[in-house]
Amino acid sequence: MRKVGILTSGGDAPGMNAAIRAVVRKAIYHGIDVYGVKNGFQGLIDGYIEKMDIGSVGDIIQRGGTILHSARSEDFKHDEGQQKGMEQMEKYGLEGLIIIGGDGSFRGAEKLTKKGYPCIGIPGTIDNDIAGTDFTIGFDTALNTVIDAIDKIRDTASSHERSFIIEVMGRNAGDLALWAGLADGAESILIPEKQDELQEIVDRLNRGQNRGKKHSIIILAEGVGSAFGYADKIKEQADLETRVTVLGHIQRGGSPTASDRVLASRLGAQSIELLLNGEAGKMAGIQNNRLVAHTFADVLAQKHTIDFSMYQLSKELSI
Ligand code: ATP
Repeated sequence: MRKVGILTSGGDAPGMNAAIRAVVRKAIYHGIDVYGVKNGFQGLIDGYIEKMDIGSVGDIIQRGGTILHSARSEDFKHDEGQQKGMEQMEKYGLEGLIIIGGDGSFRGAEKLTKKGYPCIGIPGTIDNDIAGTDFTIGFDTALNTVIDAIDKIRDTASSHERSFIIEVMGRNAGDLALWAGLADGAESILIPEKQDELQEIVDRLNRGQNRGKKHSIIILAEGVGSAFGYADKIKEQADLETRVTVLGHIQRGGSPTASDRVLASRLGAQSIELLLNGEAGKMAGIQNNRLVAHTFADVLAQKHTIDFSMYQLSKELSI
C-alpha cells in the first residue's frame, strides 16, 4: 500500500485532529503517502483532496474541531455519489481510506469497502453512541465541558436557591448525561435509554427540599424531550420553579482532554496497522483498554448500551 486518504465526517468532535495527526504520521512512518480529503464524503465526490506531510499535522494535537473540516453529504448516500467518490480515489491513486466519524459515516465506509475500496473507521463523536468501542473520540472532552458548565450553574443555583434542568447533547444515547450526572451529583438524570416517571423526579425534588436542600440539578439528554417542557410539567405537578440551561454547541468545541488525545493517537495509529494488515471494512476501537477491530457490519448491527449499573448508582447516591 503506497497511498491512503483520510477524511472526517458527520458532527465534529474534539480529538479528531489528534487522530488525523496519528494517521498521517503513522502512515509516513511506514512509507505511505497520505492525502487529506476536505469536507467529508462531499469533498471526496468533489475531489477536494490534498497531499499531507509531517508538517501539515504539526501543532494540531491540542486543537478542537477538525482541520479537514466535516460535512454531511446527501449525495454520497446514493450510488452515483459513491461512484464519483471512487473515481476520485482512482484519480489520486488512493488504495485505502480512513474515515473518522459516527455510525452514519461507517455506513458510507462500508459501501465503499464492498465496492472494492478498503476503508477503516475511527469512532469520533461526543455522543459515545457507537457499538464495539467503550469510548469514542471527543466524549471525554465534551463530558468535561459539561461538568465545567454544571459546576458554574451550581454556584448560582446554590446562591439563589434554585433548581436547574440542564439539557446536554445525546439524541439517542444517554452517556453524556449519565456520566455528567454521576460526576456532578445530579438529583435526576433523564436519558433516552431509561426514563424516570415525572412523579419520581418530583418526589426526589420534594424529598431534597424537605431535608433542607436549597437547590437541585436535573440533567436531561436532548433525545428525551425539551428541557423547557419538563420545567413546565414540574411547575404544573409540584408547583416547583426550575430554570433551564441548554448547553448546545459549546459541548462540541474546545481543546481535547489528555484522555481524548491519547485515545485518538492510539486509534489513529491502529487504523493504519489494520489497513496494512489487509483488514479492510473494520472500525478501530478500544474495549477494556485494549485495541480491537470490529467489522462495520457488526458495529452497525449492534446498539451501544449504557452501563445500567451507573444509572442505578446515580439513583442510590441521590436519595
Ligand atoms: P454523528 O454521530 O456526529 O451524527 P455520523 O457519522 O453518524 O456522525 P451522519 O450524518 O449520520 O453522521 O453521516 C455522515 C455522512 O455519512 C452522511 O452525510 C453521508 O455522507 C454518509 N452516510 C450516512 N449514511 C450513509 C449511507 N447509508 N450510505 C452512504 N453514506 C452514508
